[in-house]
Amino acid sequence: MKVVIVGGGVMGTAIACELVAAGLEVTVLERSIPGAEASTAAAGMLAPQLEAQAPGPMLDLSLRSRGLYPAWVKALTAESGVETGYLESGALQLAFTEAQAHELEATVAWQQAAGLRAALLSGGEVRALEPNVSPEVVAAAHFPDDHQVDPRKLMQALTATALRRGVRFTSVGVAGLLDEQGTVAGIRHDSGELRAELTIVAAGAWTSLLPGVGVDERHLKPARGQLVELALGASPLKHVLKSGLGYVVPRADGHVVCGTTVELVGFDKRVTAAGLASVLTQATRACPRLEGASVAGFWAGLRPWTEDGLPLLGTGHRPGLLIASGHYRNGILLAPITARLIGQLVRGDRPAMDLRPFRPARFSGG
Ligand SMILES: Cc1cc2nc3c(=O)[nH]c(=O)nc-3n(C[C@H](O)[C@H](O)[C@H](O)COP(=O)(O)OP(=O)(O)OC[C@H]3O[C@@H](n4cnc5c(N)ncnc54)[C@H](O)[C@@H]3O)c2cc1C
Repeated sequence: MKVVIVGGGVMGTAIACELVAAGLEVTVLERSIPGAEASTAAAGMLAPQLEAQAPGPMLDLSLRSRGLYPAWVKALTAESGVETGYLESGALQLAFTEAQAHELEATVAWQQAAGLRAALLSGGEVRALEPNVSPEVVAAAHFPDDHQVDPRKLMQALTATALRRGVRFTSVGVAGLLDEQGTVAGIRHDSGELRAELTIVAAGAWTSLLPGVGVDERHLKPARGQLVELALGASPLKHVLKSGLGYVVPRADGHVVCGTTVELVGFDKRVTAAGLASVLTQATRACPRLEGASVAGFWAGLRPWTEDGLPLLGTGHRPGLLIASGHYRNGILLAPITARLIGQLVRGDRPAMDLRPFRPARFSGG
C-alpha cells in the first residue's frame, strides 16, 4: 500500500518509521526540512505527571508513551547510530508559597491513588536532593519517573532511521487533498499531485490550514512558546524543575533549557523582550545559580493547540484520510504511542487504547 504523510515533524517521521517497518511504501512530504518547526523547538520533557491536572484519557495516553520511550530510543540509536539525549532525570514541581504547597499535596495524593510514584518533599528535602534550588522554595512534588530527551538529537535519530528503513522524504509544500468521489486519493502540491491509497496529515499547527482536511481553525491553532538556552561549565541541576508555566531542563552537557510562554498570537514565531524576560525571571527564581550563566541561544516555536487539550488521532471525515495532530505541549512525549496507534489503525489491528476521546471529528459532533 502506498502512503503519503503530510509533515515531517516528530509525528510524521515517527509514523513513517512505524509504517515502513510494516512493509508499506511511505513518502513524507515536508516543505522545509524534517523537524524544522515545533519538533526541534521543544524542550523535550517527557513529563506526564508534571503536566497532568487530573486522571483522564490524556494522562493514560501520556503514561503509555512514556513507558514506550526507553525501548523506542534504544532502537532508534541502534539503527541510526545517533544518541537521542534520553536522560532519566526525574522532575520536581516547586512551591514558593504555602498555598502552592497545599495544591501540590493534592496533586501528589491523586497521583499516588492512581498508582503513580509521587512524593511531597519539604523545602529542606528538596535542597538535599538539589542543592542549587532556591532557598525560597517551601516544598516540591517529586516525580521520579518523568524524564527528558533532546528533541534535536531525537529528530536526527528518527530521520536517519526513517531513511535507512526506506522512507522517502520529498521537499514540497502540500496545497490540498485530492478528492475522488468523496475519497481522499492523495495530495496536490504546487507543481502536480501525488496519488496514494492512504493520506496521513501530521502538519502540526498548520493542520487546519490544509484545504480539505476538515479541521476547523477554531479547534486547532498555533500556540507560541519561547525558550532560552543557558550554558554553565557543569549543570547546577539534575532534575527537571517546574513552577507555574516556568521550567528548567538540565542537559547532560551543562546546558540548561528554560521555558516558557503560551501565546495564542497566530503564526508569529518572533522571540519577544517580554517573553525572554518572563522565561528568565522564572528560571532564575527557581535556581538562582543560573543568573551567572551565559545565554547560548533563544528561539520560539508553534505548538499545535487544540480546544480541549487532546490530540486528534484517527480517521478523518473522508475515507483514505488519517489525522495525527494537535499534540500541543506534549508531542515529543506522545510520538511513540501515536506512531504505534496509527500503525495499528493502518494495519487494521485493534488499537491498544480507546481512541474515541481523540477522534478528529469530535468538534463537529462526529
Ligand atoms: C517552545 C516549545 C516547547 C515544547 N516543549 C515540549 C516538551 O518539553 N515536551 C513535549 O513532549 N513536547 C513539547 N512541545 C510540543 C511539541 O514540540 C509538539 O507537540 C510536537 O513537536 C508536534 O509535532 P508535529 O510533528 O505534530 O508538528 P511540527 O514539528 O510542527 O511538524 C509539522 C511539520 O509539518 C510541516 N508542514 C506543515 N504544513 C505543511 C504543508 N502544507 N506542506 C508540507 N509540509 C507542511 C511543517 O513544515 C512542519 O515541519 C514543545 C513545543 C514548543 C513550541
